[in-house]
Amino acid sequence: MKTEVITTVGEIRDRLKIARDEGKSIGLVPTMGALHSGHTSLIHAARSATNFVVVSIFVNPAQFGPTEDFERYPRTLEADRQLCDAVGTDLIFAPPVSEVYAPNHRTWVDIETLGEQLCGASRPGHFRGVCTIVLKLFNITMADHAFFGQKDAQQARILEKMATDLNLFTQVHVCPTVREADGLAMSSRNRYLSPAERYQAPVLYRTLQWIKEEVRRGERECHTLIDEIKRRLFAIPGTRIDYVQIVDSNLLKPLIQIDRPALAAVAVFFGSTRLIDNVQLDPVSPGE
Ligand code: AMP
Repeated sequence: MKTEVITTVGEIRDRLKIARDEGKSIGLVPTMGALHSGHTSLIHAARSATNFVVVSIFVNPAQFGPTEDFERYPRTLEADRQLCDAVGTDLIFAPPVSEVYAPNHRTWVDIETLGEQLCGASRPGHFRGVCTIVLKLFNITMADHAFFGQKDAQQARILEKMATDLNLFTQVHVCPTVREADGLAMSSRNRYLSPAERYQAPVLYRTLQWIKEEVRRGERECHTLIDEIKRRLFAIPGTRIDYVQIVDSNLLKPLIQIDRPALAAVAVFFGSTRLIDNVQLDPVSPGE
């Protein structure tokens, strides 16, 4: 059966009220579309935890900087709908920008400190846009549970914190990163890569695995690990490092020593395509 696409706030609210009145719990999977197996893993998680699943598809202009790829971001609604049909989705919410942001929209959600490092440093205003759209989606759907990917680790941490700080009704869940067979984290932006860049891109996964292994062997000095990663990435023609950082998993502040659960995170341009990836490091018992 074709998954229905709803485009207005009024209609999605009416449809979800009916579902709630029938005693169903609502699961929300917020996306920007161009869906892949990373997204469908979130839909599966939503299906296991709830009995009415809404996938939102909205390329949120507020989270793109002026020189970023908002205009060329892939918009593939018909293919997305087919993927949603295949995995089992109750409704797709795909509003136009004008339905989400009125011309006189003036209210934004900002988060302190957690957004300062990593992607927050290189994409000013990005997390303000993310928090605002996610809070809007939570308010529009009143979902019981919402599902996000560890692939965007800083985003996930920020949204967990927003949900706690603002006493949100919707519970935030973070699901593991889904990867291609060669380790490349699935991303809607992977389709921008040329064949040569696609061939190089799994280096991100390999270097993160290398860090994980070094930490397992007892290395604790962040600068030693970061310097080596930068050296390896510099060696690849056509790439530009945005950041390589090791931060406290909870506070997202850079660490000198890995003496607590940490996150190694990288952002690298392959040509004009910026890819991110991360791995969790546990100095006590190596996770993941
Ligand atoms: P996006 O459409 O890129 O905004 O992503 C929508 C959601 O899917 C976010 O919560 C992402 O973290 C999640 N996601 C994207 N790629 C992956 C992946 N490879 N594995 C798991 N979750 C992912």
